[in-house]
Amino acid sequence: MPELPEVETIRRQLEPRLLRRRITEAAGHPSEKFLPAREVTGATVEGVDRRGKYLIIALGDGREMVLHLGMTGRLQFAAAAPPSDRYVRAWWGLDDGAALELHDVRRFGRVRVVPAGCYDTIPTLAQLGPEPLGEGFSPEGLWAALRRSRRKVKTQLLSQRPVAGLGNIYADEALWRSGINPAKRRITRAEAAALHAAIGDVLRQAIFHRGTTFRDYRTLLGSGGDNFAHLDCYGRRGEPCRRCGCELRSRPIDARTTTYCPGCQR
Ligand SMILES: [Zn+2]
Repeated sequence: MPELPEVETIRRQLEPRLLRRRITEAAGHPSEKFLPAREVTGATVEGVDRRGKYLIIALGDGREMVLHLGMTGRLQFAAAAPPSDRYVRAWWGLDDGAALELHDVRRFGRVRVVPAGCYDTIPTLAQLGPEPLGEGFSPEGLWAALRRSRRKVKTQLLSQRPVAGLGNIYADEALWRSGINPAKRRITRAEAAALHAAIGDVLRQAIFHRGTTFRDYRTLLGSGGDNFAHLDCYGRRGEPCRRCGCELRSRPIDARTTTYCPGCQR
């Protein structure tokens, strides 16, 4: 599933292609998830933003189109409408003749159109924690947020409440980098500060490498991200820890496979 660095990579590539373009036609697969794509015909794109794992396309008429890529969603440009294959669930024709397509094999993606900033119909977006690379994310704030719950720290990170945008890859990476056991329920102030720094570091590194590709994720240009080679923990079960040499292990934590080091994440 695309996490913050993957969605941010797509956003950065999308912005110059989409900004100030008028949407001349639009279509969506006839399901509740994709049909709202049609509602933006005639609108002009005034911003291409991101919040957590959501892409937010600001429109000149005071509305926003909110896209979530789900498990396998990807955005791609086609030279012209109509859609290039049967996995295109929604598409938008632009006034420069090109078409933006939402390609989604498994259909966990979603398109919504809302008045700007009104997310009460998208509770997972309305309840997101602070942006991890923004000024609203602080070590003290993270510590306070983690203390509000007794759930395991990995589960809390995946909930998007203490901080937005982390999924399985970057939660495991940040916990490894800060030396915190993912099953821990009580985090000290010093651990929260280390975790705060680690989250920023792993996300900035991943954005620099245009995200992590295992299977499905592609950038807007159709290529994979290069961050896989730079992961220290996720996907390295059975390999030696780069910090202490112990063999990295995997186990489910609240049903999510979690990789960690038994040596330095006690
Ligand atoms: Zn280790």
